Amino acid sequence: MSSDVALRIDLDAAPYPVTGEVSIVVVLGSGEGAGGAGCVVLHAGEGVDVTASDVSLPPPDGSGAPPTPVAHALRRNAAEGLGDQLILTLDGAPAAGATAEIRLAFSYHLPRALNGLYLSTYRDADGTERAMATTQFEPTDARHAFPCFDEPALKARHTVHLTVPAWATALSNMPATGETALGGPGGFKRVDFAETPPMSTYLVAMVVGRLTAVRTAAGRGEGGAAPLPVSVYGTPGREGELEAAAGHASKVVPRLEGLFGVPYDLPKLDLVAIPDFAAGAMENWGLVTFRQSDLLVSGSTSTRGRKRVAVVVAHELAHMWWGDRVTPAWWDDIWLNEGFASYFEHVGGDAAAPEFGYLASIYWDTVSRALDADAAADRHALAPGALPGGDRAATIDALFDAITYSKGAGVLSMVRQVARRTHAIVDFEGVVPAFPEPADRDALITGLEGHLRAHAFGSADTGDLVGAVSASLDRAAGLERGAEGFVTPWVRQAGFPLVSVELTPHETPDGTGARVRLTQAPFTWAGPGECAEGGDGGDGGDGGDGGACPAGDCPGEPRARWPVVVPFQVFALDGDDPAGPERRPVAGPLMLASLRGCSAEFDLPFPPDVVGKGERRKLAAVFNRGRHGFFRLALDLHSMDLFGWVLQASRGVSVLAGSDFGADIAGVIDDARAAAEAGVGGAHSATRVLALARSLAQSGRVVEYSGHSAALSSALSVRERLLPVAASGGTPACAAPGPAGGPSEVDEWIAATARSFPGSAAFLRGFTGAPEGVSPRDRLVWPLMVRAAARADDGMAAAAWELMRRRLELVMEAGGSLAAVGAPGAEGYVHPDVLAEVYALGVRHGGEEALAAVRAALGAVDDAAETDTLLGSLAAASSEAGLASVLALAVEDGVVRSQDVVGLVGDVARSSPLGRQLAWEFVRTRAADIDAKVGRVGAAGAGLSSLVVRVAGGFADEARVAEVERLRAEHPDWVLESAVAKVADLVARNARWIADHAADVCDWVRRHPPGP
Ligand SMILES: [Zn+2]
Repeated sequence: MSSDVALRIDLDAAPYPVTGEVSIVVVLGSGEGAGGAGCVVLHAGEGVDVTASDVSLPPPDGSGAPPTPVAHALRRNAAEGLGDQLILTLDGAPAAGATAEIRLAFSYHLPRALNGLYLSTYRDADGTERAMATTQFEPTDARHAFPCFDEPALKARHTVHLTVPAWATALSNMPATGETALGGPGGFKRVDFAETPPMSTYLVAMVVGRLTAVRTAAGRGEGGAAPLPVSVYGTPGREGELEAAAGHASKVVPRLEGLFGVPYDLPKLDLVAIPDFAAGAMENWGLVTFRQSDLLVSGSTSTRGRKRVAVVVAHELAHMWWGDRVTPAWWDDIWLNEGFASYFEHVGGDAAAPEFGYLASIYWDTVSRALDADAAADRHALAPGALPGGDRAATIDALFDAITYSKGAGVLSMVRQVARRTHAIVDFEGVVPAFPEPADRDALITGLEGHLRAHAFGSADTGDLVGAVSASLDRAAGLERGAEGFVTPWVRQAGFPLVSVELTPHETPDGTGARVRLTQAPFTWAGPGECAEGGDGGDGGDGGDGGACPAGDCPGEPRARWPVVVPFQVFALDGDDPAGPERRPVAGPLMLASLRGCSAEFDLPFPPDVVGKGERRKLAAVFNRGRHGFFRLALDLHSMDLFGWVLQASRGVSVLAGSDFGADIAGVIDDARAAAEAGVGGAHSATRVLALARSLAQSGRVVEYSGHSAALSSALSVRERLLPVAASGGTPACAAPGPAGGPSEVDEWIAATARSFPGSAAFLRGFTGAPEGVSPRDRLVWPLMVRAAARADDGMAAAAWELMRRRLELVMEAGGSLAAVGAPGAEGYVHPDVLAEVYALGVRHGGEEALAAVRAALGAVDDAAETDTLLGSLAAASSEAGLASVLALAVEDGVVRSQDVVGLVGDVARSSPLGRQLAWEFVRTRAADIDAKVGRVGAAGAGLSSLVVRVAGGFADEARVAEVERLRAEHPDWVLESAVAKVADLVARNARWIADHAADVCDWVRRHPPGP
């Protein structure tokens, strides 16, 4: 199939008319369009006015005869919800297999929307509003720009021609082949672009406007291919902010080309920052579009923002292979795009900005989130086999979720970890050594290369992918078949297991050895499920859907089982005194243990260096080492002690291979938090979260990104979970404000723990200079350190307010310009990494005066990042009157954009029990106003329904569920039934957490002051 589309876009005056012609050459009755040869169904959005049509059959090759016109009728599908289908009926029913050319002329106006071909505006340096045209087609919006066969498997070669104002830059997927001045009133030009390879319509893209560019080239390695031209575009004046992304792209392309063994397919690569953009970025082949904040880097970009830009660029470029070259045949396999881009973004990120250690942080940055999403009642398989809820635009959108992205990445990370030990995932029971360093070209990557070659410029489904990977893994192991039995359950079953570790020490001739027993059971927020015994693996059969309740029939707990490989590393340590000065741990190699059934047992192997030395040593082990396995661990108390012992003993020891324990520390703490939330019971109390944070401080390990982020954010989440009790009659004493509204005991404990981490002083010196001697990656802990320490430090809050007050004064004096406060060392300068913390602390401390200053600044500042930060600070107001005024602001016209309403009200709810109470009253009484501003449900999760879940889902009393039901009865169109179910689920979880843990936590905090 081929499609030739010519659009004339007038950007000089509203209403920005667009006229166009498209010519599609299609093989009749081939599945390119539905129906037989006499009937063709194609897509055109209802706003696209088709003004003329023409169908013809080309003459036989070489005959020189003119095309044969075909009489035809064209109508829109009148069925409910299908108005964007054009039905073309051909007279005389041409033979199936005949080639026909369909020509349509059409027109519309450029909409102020965020999808289709739409209008984006910005103000230039002298304040004039400027218009540009841009596209966002995924998943189903190419049809709003031009008539087409708008399904991913119906690929066509696309040729684009754009007639645009002479002043404009016009871009599309392919390079321009020519430009013709047309003259005429206003001055237009026609830009012709080269034909694309076969590609899905959702990847077609066009950008037209005043653009400035930074150009670079990506080297292509040894192959001798010419360097790839790379351009990064932004609106005029942004030149300096484009350099970072250009550098990233020029490093990511050769890295991914080398890894996949498949060159990037197109002759050029453009990246463009768009002022109005719904998502983060969009992987249009050869013309990637970005939200400005995800592409531009300036002096006021925070470290977190810099880390994000590199990884978003890497994510989109990974899609050039995963999605663009090979495309899922249908949207239910969208994890083949997003899961793969979400894994390989870490590989590309490490090439672009190695200082952030993306792959080493994949657990804390990505996998932890996936495990939380995949434990919820509405979890789904990575490849569900069909769109949950049927084939509709809304159900396609709903599948772009944390499971699709982050579990996809987590499962790939796991498979890759064991790919070089294919026997381990295929046919072994017990323990084998892994290779210590994963090679670049392992059996997984080889299989993926085969897949990318086999389906180039075509489409493929999960079955194709699993087949390619499994065959490669089997080949690497010299086996007939077996890897599929490992891979399939992980992509076809929802959920994941909780792997429990029991460790029993016993005497051996070499010292104290240990017997390990592993068991598995499904992990869900409703509590542990039951391991499905029998059969060969958990791939289907009885309960094998991991709890996705077929046909609503779910007797008791879900039953499921997974083929699990547990990576672990053994450490041998002398004697019994962990602090002994002569102690040096001996590390064994990384090992893999197989858990195919519901349980497995083995002896911990002594590291080779230890055996035969005749010394008395004892063994410790770190399970799920590096956190590559997609499961949660429940360690018994003994193995938990041994983990703490390894951390302490390995502190500062560089002789250990891979002595970075960041992911392991984050994982153990995060597992403890999750186990307490899921009511796993036994030793898994929420107090373990606090105990782990305390022992991390005592271990002497200096502040490090993953581990300390997990410790601080998990402790803060325990604090937050204590608070919903207020709504049901009383906050536990340790979480209630102290005398004169001072910090609670828990606040004091968290602050003191943060201060007791070795190296914490560097983070708490002030707000104007970055912590010295701290790597860019570890600097990401800075805002969390400030948040935790400031909970009990009024001096810090007062200093923040003083700084903020002066900063906003200077900004207002400068008429809203940030120039005067933007340079390090200037009065009013705040380091961008902690600006949000400074503003939040300032609002908390500064009361009415601070709120007034923020409101004034919001009306004057014309800087998107600063405005976001100011808005985010409002929820920190501490008085009832202050919070009420913030809520009122959310629905007033002007200050708060509709896209920010849900976030602001949700932040007020999270701020304190009082905030939650007020936010809930506000949602109940102002539902109509909120709805009028944010739009009805279905608007990308931004609607009233999601706000109801955010606010009411934080309570712990059943009465609130009844209130949500009443709200739904009053507004059935605004509050989805699923919202009621979600709130009921969350409230039950909160109530159970409080019943199980609140008293324990208060008691524990009193008995365990921070410090050594
Ligand atoms: Zn993506």
